[in-house]
Amino acid sequence: MCPGGANRKVAELKVAALDVQHTISSPAVCAGIGVHTGARVRLSIRPAPADTGIIFVRGDERDLDARIPATADYVASTNLGTTLRNRAGVEIATVEHFLAACAGLEIDNLIVEADGPELPILDGSSAQFVQLLMSAGTKAQHATRRSIEIIERISVASGDKSASLEPAERAEFDVTIRYADAPIGVQRRRYFPGRDAFLHEIADARTYGFLSDVEKLHAIGRGLGASYENTVVIDGGRVVNDDGLRFEDEFVRHKILDAIGDLALAGAPILGRYVADQPGHALNVKLVQTLLDTPRAWRWAPPDVLAAMAERQVAAFAAAG
Ligand SMILES: [Zn+2]
Repeated sequence: MCPGGANRKVAELKVAALDVQHTISSPAVCAGIGVHTGARVRLSIRPAPADTGIIFVRGDERDLDARIPATADYVASTNLGTTLRNRAGVEIATVEHFLAACAGLEIDNLIVEADGPELPILDGSSAQFVQLLMSAGTKAQHATRRSIEIIERISVASGDKSASLEPAERAEFDVTIRYADAPIGVQRRRYFPGRDAFLHEIADARTYGFLSDVEKLHAIGRGLGASYENTVVIDGGRVVNDDGLRFEDEFVRHKILDAIGDLALAGAPILGRYVADQPGHALNVKLVQTLLDTPRAWRWAPPDVLAAMAERQVAAFAAAG
């Protein structure tokens, strides 16, 4: 990289370190089908003032309160995706890939109006949400972004699955998945959050499923929109999509993407190390709820901690050349 580019990058990192909140510069629209409902849905995404957070709005809901904040308090279900529900009983399903895109791009405040009960699955990753939000442009706001600093380890487990958050000098995801069979097998990946890292390592990783599960899903009225266009499909120990995989370890990358989306339900970035073995939405949401219910485990990161973290990010960038 040329020295000018490096200097600009360091300057960008320092600005990011000051950590103001962001929204988008202009409204954006997209449409697609829900992976579970199979129904077409249109999304209209608008800028929102500082301290709004991400708020979903059901545009097709005329009679009830249609606003659904994207925080852990509003999680209704974690079965085959994360579904939120407000006090009036209005729901929005499959929010995790959109929330991952927002967290990955460090966008804090948005109004996201959907004219149906499930977000579009698009290509099964965050890639198209990322394109949409980036083409809308991000806009810095006159408000500090707060981060949740982990100061005491917490963990949750369910059977042979586990997830924890522990103190760390910089945010990190360390995820392991274990399947008996090819092509997944055992995959482990570590990820250090940052806008560029998200774009290059995580955003494009698609959701996956086994062909043998399709009939079971359809029998319970789920997965009606799933197809080779939005899911990596595995059958007989191999990926059956014509185009194969986007990354050799696309599966564990997608698990990290899901975790980024689910952890965003904490309502602020988490400064700590997330370590998970065979995580899923249920475990991730339980981890966030446990965190928020355990005041001794976290604090709002003070400015000196954020500044030190920023220095380390700049140093890591410089070391990487
Ligand atoms: Zn997913």
